[in-house]
Amino acid sequence: MSKITQKLLEMKKAHKVLQKMEYRFDKVEKGYANQTLYINLSDNTIKSKPVTQKMKDIFTGGRGFGLWLLWNAVSGDTKWNDPENEIVISSGPIGGITQYPGAGKSLVVTISPTTGSVVDSNVGGYFGPLLKFAGWDAIEIQGKAENDVIIYIDGNNGYVTIEEAPEEDVDSHLAAEQFTDMYADNEEDKRNVAVVSAGQGAENTLIGVLNFSFYDVKRQVARLKQAGRGGTGSVFRDKKIKALVVKYKGVKGDSNGPVDKQKIIKAGIKIHREIHDLDKDQCRMREVGTAHLTEIMNDYDLLPTMNYQYGSHPDAIKLHSDIFKQKYFTQNMADGCWYGCSLACAKGVDDFELKTGPYKGQKVCVDGPEYETVAGLGSNCGIFDPEFVIEGNFYCDTYGIDTISTATSIAFVMECYEKGIINKKITGGLELNFGNKEAAMELIHQMGQGRGFGKTVGLGIRRMKKLFAEKYGQDPRLLNDIGMEAKGMEYSEYVTKESLAMQGGYGLALKGAQHDEAWLIFMDMVNKQIPTFEDKAEALHYFPMFRTWFGLNGLCKLPWNDIEPADNAQTDEPAKVPEHVQNYVDVFNGVTGRNVDKDDLIIQSERVYNFQRIFNLKMGYGTREHDAIPYRSVGPVTVTEYESRAERYDKQLKELGYDIDGKSTKEKVKILREYREDQYEKLCDAVYKRRGWTNNGVPKLEKVKELGIDFPNVVELISRYQ
Ligand code: SF4
Repeated sequence: MSKITQKLLEMKKAHKVLQKMEYRFDKVEKGYANQTLYINLSDNTIKSKPVTQKMKDIFTGGRGFGLWLLWNAVSGDTKWNDPENEIVISSGPIGGITQYPGAGKSLVVTISPTTGSVVDSNVGGYFGPLLKFAGWDAIEIQGKAENDVIIYIDGNNGYVTIEEAPEEDVDSHLAAEQFTDMYADNEEDKRNVAVVSAGQGAENTLIGVLNFSFYDVKRQVARLKQAGRGGTGSVFRDKKIKALVVKYKGVKGDSNGPVDKQKIIKAGIKIHREIHDLDKDQCRMREVGTAHLTEIMNDYDLLPTMNYQYGSHPDAIKLHSDIFKQKYFTQNMADGCWYGCSLACAKGVDDFELKTGPYKGQKVCVDGPEYETVAGLGSNCGIFDPEFVIEGNFYCDTYGIDTISTATSIAFVMECYEKGIINKKITGGLELNFGNKEAAMELIHQMGQGRGFGKTVGLGIRRMKKLFAEKYGQDPRLLNDIGMEAKGMEYSEYVTKESLAMQGGYGLALKGAQHDEAWLIFMDMVNKQIPTFEDKAEALHYFPMFRTWFGLNGLCKLPWNDIEPADNAQTDEPAKVPEHVQNYVDVFNGVTGRNVDKDDLIIQSERVYNFQRIFNLKMGYGTREHDAIPYRSVGPVTVTEYESRAERYDKQLKELGYDIDGKSTKEKVKILREYREDQYEKLCDAVYKRRGWTNNGVPKLEKVKELGIDFPNVVELISRYQ
């Protein structure tokens, strides 16, 4: 018996089973298991709940199911760390198919520690599909355990347990490996085990992630994908969950119970061929993943640099994707985070020797880095060193802290430090100038381990702004202008100053400043396809709805438009990638046996999207004031920032008819600000109107009725705002 096996046996022996439920499950039909799993960790309840036809018709699955289950579990007063808050994880009816790329996603829904409202996060890895094949469309976890527990779901033997698990590591690269090894019968069996975990950083900050594993057969390692946004991992650790483990052996091409498999195969063959033939000339996802965006963003002055002050930097070349490809990424065409994903963007760095922290000297496999991490930890912190980015990426993941929120928060405190808003006394001696990679790495360790100034930064930008204003007497207006968060969520990594539509993409996103609802920079700023408010509002209706649809179905968005058919540019609406939209219609109909068309997909999303907006309202948010964004995302805050792009701004002001001759830069900053802030409000007016919302951003009663989500408590709630 190997040493590692002996250690695992001892760990397993230390488990204490607190509850066990046996269940019978026949098979998934038309994409649904037709039941959800409810667990309460306060009293160790485990029970099954039925999935009704009405639930499917209104909420479809995935994020829709999560929102519905959570809505029924919490009140408007529920805080993120109250026992009644839940973590709900659900795949969706298409989730788990193997013939079309990007069909392995899980959707996580909870009340967020940083926004105080409902948050959703889309994540890869095997958990969601294996959970469904094990018999459950969703897992809903309420309550809090007394000691660290795991929840184990055995899909082949039909039982669920809650077990105290005192000995396994918390940090995710270790936890994922240990639980995978513990529950797999042999090497081959490891692909049948999926683990959800969150590291020590998730308990020490409010920006914790959930790490979803998938076993990489080629590398022989349990790799990690993150449900990154909104602090889902912090809720997980607050409930004292060490891991969720599902095991299901027997994934097959028809495990999802499709009605018409041929229809799915036909769509799949078409897109696999496109990926094979065209990816190398389009986004190069199979070579470098999303990291290809770094150079594009830098070229268009959109790469966040030094807390979003600027959009490019001469040293950004050191972070270009080719550097990662040539020096660090191990090429592996099997880098898909679920079976059948030939886009295979889940790149990794093998045998990376860590230079700092608790695992210093060890050689590890690092997942990524993806674009957001490169831009966030790199240029946005003024650090143009790929090895810093890779090491920071590894520690953020294993500590279980969001690379985006971590990076954007560090960029914010760096600017605060340079502006004298905070000083060495406050930072505990850290010299947080832009570019100081040693200080930044130390800060990541402090955040992960809950030490020093890291404890403050781990609270996120919204709380830091308040603290710096109240405790240190700093100017709240300046802090609001440069603190890049909206609704309490830190911005992801795009400079939006020159794209009004993208400002709306961030500000109007339901969960906070994340780009996954609408990424309109190129349509708006580069290709100038949406010039009027009405055009922008139409885009801010269609794209958030279409992207929501992926989350209802357990899908990844990337195979929709990060690969395009060769003749896509010649179609009527190339931005929508019409041929791929039709693929999704075919795949949905092929799985469920329904007969929807492309307009129905938008209506499915509209139901859930409007319901989520109303959920925000229930939690005390969800109106116009909560769609406000920091001025740094709209225009230049400071004289230096204006002057760095003076030609551009002067030209714009003149074209708008302003007489700026003889005006100081400070005066021009003010004029531009008044103009741009007014534009943003007008954009909100147009978007609310297009979405069928009141001028205060609340769905109108007739819209809610039209969508069939006019439940009595919904009507009662929105009636107060009509
Ligand atoms: S495109 Fe990338 S993130 Fe999406 S499913 Fe495939 S490997 Fe996973």
